Amino acid sequence: MIELTDADRVFVKAARAAGALCDLDGEKIHAPNGTILLACADGDQFFELLHHHCHIAKTVRHHALLLNGGPLLVAPASPIENAGTDGEVLLRHIDAAVPMKGIPTVVLCTHAPCGAARKANLDFLDVLRLLMEAKLRLRKSLDLKSVERIHCFCHVDHGGNHKRTYCVLRIPACAFLEALGRPVRMF
Ligand SMILES: [Zn+2]
Repeated sequence: MIELTDADRVFVKAARAAGALCDLDGEKIHAPNGTILLACADGDQFFELLHHHCHIAKTVRHHALLLNGGPLLVAPASPIENAGTDGEVLLRHIDAAVPMKGIPTVVLCTHAPCGAARKANLDFLDVLRLLMEAKLRLRKSLDLKSVERIHCFCHVDHGGNHKRTYCVLRIPACAFLEALGRPVRMF
């Protein structure tokens, strides 16, 4: 199992301080029908991630779409191998699942450290940036009438059995990334 790099530990801490990563509030998520959960398939993290997710969303009803790298594949400029094709596949499945299951809440959940991100030499800032860009792409590509909300989460394994799921807030996250020279790109 991989661990956060020292640089990524600093970035996670800075993102928390900047308000880009916030503690989750289940009341604000409001997912009475459950969620369409797009996450990484990582078998070392998924059980814990789903456990947190059920707790936060206050339901165990989740339609999970899992591939290596999860939402990072959906970002238009994702450098992860075959992200173009895999991102299209995920978008197609989200688009089908929302009306099929009657679940209008989509959650894009990335995680750190992520093996797929590490393989593509992405640091934590790159991961946050791609997550924001994935949300923009999803928002553009989906029928807005059927999707009511898209939430962005980040599950962090701090090491030493300390794992937390944070909400990634778009406005502070974009400002944080811009300030560190990784502005969110519009496509
Ligand atoms: Zn992963």
